[in-house]
Amino acid sequence: MNRRELLKNLGLTVGTAALCGTTSVVSATERSDKRKKVLRIAHITDVHIRPEENAPERFVKCLEEIKKHKVDFFLNGGDTIFAADYGNITRERVNELWKVWNETTKTISNFEMHSCLGNHDMWWAAPNKEDSMYGKQYVVNQLKIPNRYYSFDKKGWHFIILDSNNKDATLDDEQRRWLEKDLQSIAVGTPVICLSHYPILGVCTHIEGGNHSDSKYISDLFYKNKDKKISCFSGHIHLLDSAEYNGVHYYCNGAVSGYWWEPGDKDSAGKSYYKQTPPGYAIIDLFDDGTVHNQYFPHTY
Ligand SMILES: [Zn+2]
Repeated sequence: MNRRELLKNLGLTVGTAALCGTTSVVSATERSDKRKKVLRIAHITDVHIRPEENAPERFVKCLEEIKKHKVDFFLNGGDTIFAADYGNITRERVNELWKVWNETTKTISNFEMHSCLGNHDMWWAAPNKEDSMYGKQYVVNQLKIPNRYYSFDKKGWHFIILDSNNKDATLDDEQRRWLEKDLQSIAVGTPVICLSHYPILGVCTHIEGGNHSDSKYISDLFYKNKDKKISCFSGHIHLLDSAEYNGVHYYCNGAVSGYWWEPGDKDSAGKSYYKQTPPGYAIIDLFDDGTVHNQYFPHTY
């Protein structure tokens, strides 16, 4: 008796047989055959672009590789430049870093890029708050985004881009009110992609820390909106992890720069690794049933 006849004789449908390890492969294949890919996105985060370490050339090579995945557009998770946030950073240095970013990303100038702010992107050491390069607005301008937080729609998917860079990695009150309204305004069943710099939830927090400190508020808000299908993507900790809580998936997708483009330290598992996470980027496929497939691609540049 072959396997199919056996299953039939046992009165099992493929669906119920999916409880058994081997046939779950079959049913997963069938499901993926049925769902249709709606969008393919490249998620790059923590690029930390800088002129040193041959980073510009290596980053361009990485972008060329990403293009081969035939993505529809890019999500950039912040910490775009090496670091503008330290007290000793000069205007010249900030200009130099953004110049390298603008030059290297010409490689993908025919793609849309939707970015969020990272903690290292802002120049707080400007001589005064009126300086055109001070703080978040300058980064918003450099990244050509509409605001420090915003949302948009594409092919039936709703995208929310957050600004985590408030006291202790939180959403400020103004942003909370906006997010609550934004989530409320979308139709039941809408699939949602939420991009933040700091992870909202994750398992690596036990090793590294560095999550949103208002994870409880955000995950409670997501639960109130459980009639939508929410998936979250982040960076900041340069580590690769994923978690699921209350039906929401949280993916932290390493870092394009790995160990900030440097060779690494004693804890690096390989060249430019941060701990055990290689430098890389993620390709995210979005399907018509509201599911996502997140795959991390280490790069060797
Ligand atoms: Zn960061």
